[in-house]
Amino acid sequence: MSKFDLKRADYRPETLAIRAGQERSQFGEHAEALYLTSSFVFKSAGQAAKRFSGEEEGNVYARFSNPTVTMFEERLAALEGAEDCVATASGMSAIMAVVLAHLKNGDHIVASNGLFGATVQLFSNILARTGITTSFVPQTDPAAWAAAIRPETKLFFLETPSNPLTEIADISALTAIAHAKGILVAVDNCFCTPILQRPLELGADLVVHSATKFLDGQGRVLGGAVCGPKKLTEEVFKYLRTAGPTLSAFNAWVLLKGLETLKLRVEAQSANAAQLAAWLEAHPKVARVFYPGLPSHPQYELAQRQQKSGGAIVAFEVKGDREQAWQVVDNCQLLSITANLGDTKTTITHPASTTHGRITPEARAAAGISEGLLRIAVGLEAVVDLQADLERGLALI
Ligand SMILES: *Cc1c(COP(=O)(O)O)cnc(C)c1O
Repeated sequence: MSKFDLKRADYRPETLAIRAGQERSQFGEHAEALYLTSSFVFKSAGQAAKRFSGEEEGNVYARFSNPTVTMFEERLAALEGAEDCVATASGMSAIMAVVLAHLKNGDHIVASNGLFGATVQLFSNILARTGITTSFVPQTDPAAWAAAIRPETKLFFLETPSNPLTEIADISALTAIAHAKGILVAVDNCFCTPILQRPLELGADLVVHSATKFLDGQGRVLGGAVCGPKKLTEEVFKYLRTAGPTLSAFNAWVLLKGLETLKLRVEAQSANAAQLAAWLEAHPKVARVFYPGLPSHPQYELAQRQQKSGGAIVAFEVKGDREQAWQVVDNCQLLSITANLGDTKTTITHPASTTHGRITPEARAAAGISEGLLRIAVGLEAVVDLQADLERGLALI
């Protein structure tokens, strides 16, 4: 840990986002250095032996650690208020690492049924083959989580707000249920980032990130991270150094610079989203808006308590079906038609035919993903320009 890190309680998030974790080399570079090296040399055979055994701290091989990656890890740990952070190659590898570091054949997970699509596939197909099973329960119903617990349950896994319907899971309530039975709680904090929500302060044991989204914020690289107390992240690190899905130094460097503007971006994108959501809610061609910052959201009170604002993701149903929804998408000249989110560029997606296209129509209907539903991940463009872009398609309905 750097000397700065030890005093991070003295600093605000925007300061930590810019200053935490930086270690300067002998050259005194102002910006964070990018160490593109896969391995590290030792002064002697004796030092090599000590580094390999762990008797002496230091870098050995980039699958284990790299100084640029370490800087990113310390900066994100500071923002999440975590003792430690371990970076991974992607958000999915962070989730995989949490599960394989802490669970084994025969263990059981309780997870929300509104998880990111690849996480659902990972739990229900790939991990199921290793004998780790998952029960999916409604995001918003703590009693259902309690009822799904079995003697072999080891992990609660949740993501809040959910994608695309922005349902809120009550992190404190679910943590209390889990901890009463000695169950770990991991929260995917991708949508809010530590700027809007700090799950560890609400009792969660681990936070996972897809750094690909808001932490980069400019759609450039893949990355992920696991944050939490060292006694839990150490097991994640052991898995990663052996299994290999570590973050590349280059991506860590891009992400370090991304973190510097995280607070400005997330707050501005969230303010834009709030404006857009209110405009959509009043629009005659829109049937319903899903946004945690609107008083019409079923869990508005909980969202107010748990998050600093509504976030940058807005979902809405047009009055109509797939045809009308696609019409809105196809008439966008500014909004990017892509499922990515967290970017400075606003994106639009039709969940029923993309992110949720592989599940059965019945399962989709049960999850509330209608054919008229669209999801927007709001960026930093002027709200009036975004409105004009959406209006072109909405006017045709
Ligand atoms: C994108 C995403 C992931 C997966 O992250 P990758 O970096 O694409 O592997 C996990 N969870 C959520 C909520 C996401 O949006």
